[in-house]
Amino acid sequence: MPPAEVLFSFDGRIGRKTYWLYHLFVLSLSLLTYFHREDLPIPILLIVLPLFTWTGLAMAVKRWHDRGKSGWWVLIGLIPIVGALWSLIELGFLEGTPGPNEYDVRATRPHSPHPILIDAITIHCWRCKAEIAITPEMRGKETKCSSCGTRQACPA
Ligand SMILES: [Zn+2]
Repeated sequence: MPPAEVLFSFDGRIGRKTYWLYHLFVLSLSLLTYFHREDLPIPILLIVLPLFTWTGLAMAVKRWHDRGKSGWWVLIGLIPIVGALWSLIELGFLEGTPGPNEYDVRATRPHSPHPILIDAITIHCWRCKAEIAITPEMRGKETKCSSCGTRQACPA
């Protein structure tokens, strides 16, 4: 994922490491700002605050996605104390779902160069072991391995 997407996009997933790096950065910046708060012009704050609200929400939504949950779970943060604790534990400490989930960018974008084959199963060529995707229409028929050209019987 390009850095701009990591910061601003509400699509896809991020892991715990990216999430923590972002928050360490924001925390250091807040501390710096706090010690120099008298020197900061108001217009800068008017740009910076919405910027960090947006990126913070985008990071949280992508981490909820990584957990296999809807981005709307960010709203749990509105519950005082419990919501913040729940978000911290789930987003900061719990692992994402292993393997792809419904929030992967390539699964949600129909024009992706690598679409996920819906309902496809994968077999391995008996000669070269290359992967062959079997779509529902190919079931029970014969196909050819795209790597070595060997004939393969598709499972029914
Ligand atoms: Zn083959």
